[in-house]
Amino acid sequence: MGDYPRVVLKPHEEGRLQKGHLWAFSNEVAQAPAGLEPGSLADLFPSSAGFLGRGFYHPHSLIAFRILSSEQENIDAAFFQKRLTEAMALRERLYPSATAYRWVFGESDRLPGLVVDRYGDYLAVQVLSAGMERFKDVLIQALNQAAHPRGIVWRSDAPVRLLEGLKEEPPSVILGEVPPRVQITLENGSFYVDLLGGQKTGFYFDQRDNRQALAALCSGRRVLDAFCYSGGFGIAAARAGARAVVFVDSSQPALELAEANAQLNDVADRCTFVQGDALQLLSHQNPGGPFDVIVVDPPAYARSKKHLPVALKAYEKLNALAIGALPKGGILAASSCSHFVDRDAFLETLRRAARKAKRSLRLLEMRGQAKDHPVLLAMPETEYLKFAILQVF
Ligand code: SAH
Repeated sequence: MGDYPRVVLKPHEEGRLQKGHLWAFSNEVAQAPAGLEPGSLADLFPSSAGFLGRGFYHPHSLIAFRILSSEQENIDAAFFQKRLTEAMALRERLYPSATAYRWVFGESDRLPGLVVDRYGDYLAVQVLSAGMERFKDVLIQALNQAAHPRGIVWRSDAPVRLLEGLKEEPPSVILGEVPPRVQITLENGSFYVDLLGGQKTGFYFDQRDNRQALAALCSGRRVLDAFCYSGGFGIAAARAGARAVVFVDSSQPALELAEANAQLNDVADRCTFVQGDALQLLSHQNPGGPFDVIVVDPPAYARSKKHLPVALKAYEKLNALAIGALPKGGILAASSCSHFVDRDAFLETLRRAARKAKRSLRLLEMRGQAKDHPVLLAMPETEYLKFAILQVF
């Protein structure tokens, strides 16, 4: 058991961490040895007696400490292997016999700043903390041992890396080989995933369970999948018997994937693909128009707290347009993946949107991120996705 540098909190700053939160912020730290490199391993202590955790210290990041373990255990290859195996066991329990899922969801798997998506024999890995970056080689080896992938894509193209002093770099294949499109099969469809060129880590697993829930309401209906990306919602709806599905995205490569996915699932004859601005398309619909179900799943509008007021207005406008385009009895699936918009604020924007559209909404189901993105109860930051299924009433 090696000696780790000691980082000590200011008096009375330990409460949140004692309750299970995994971060200490820079203004809460009283002492740390000078000259520690960003992401160095260290031990965190309260000002009084006790021990809070072992983890990564960052002298220049707002998140000064990220706890990896509440024990004083060695942080080495065996440690990462253990964590990865635990994370995989949970996914295998949640989605029996699946080989595609979010394998690691950062802090919720006590692997702060690490995201891993598994696509059968291929992995996409995203590192968002300086500490994890220092373990890059160890991680690749541990992932290799745990899953024996044919290829691993390293996705260092996330802007939040800059907050940790890490570079934003183009995605690259870091182990083995990765074909341009990998095929996965989930409960609600088969999908091609572009691990290198696709958005984020290639596929939005966080909406997996929501696609199931919505698809169950789509049989015989006409569905608009606005902000469709690779078509997750629309494909699930078509497979569940939707009469017609229109897919809209501003990105041409996204639409091409969606179209290939429609063919893969044998539903292309009921699908139409439109490249363009979803808001434009929605604003040209008449109420009682061509859709019975509308999914709106825009990118995160609030990228920071200061963008919140503008973002809330944008969600309101978008959802008002969607509500206005639906007939009475129509279904709106409204989503927000902004961390900074909490459940209550999101529901309030939907209330305002309904008022703006001069309609009334009833909430059929309030959902969140899929089970392979578990929320750490002591750490609200791990919850980000809101998904409301509503009916125009
Ligand atoms: N619903 C998707 C995920 C959507 S991600 C799924 O289930 O996989 C958000 C998508 O919105 C991205 O594909 C992005 O290209 C698209 N987008 C961003 N702005 C847009 C706009 N104004 N109109 C249409 N699509 C837009």
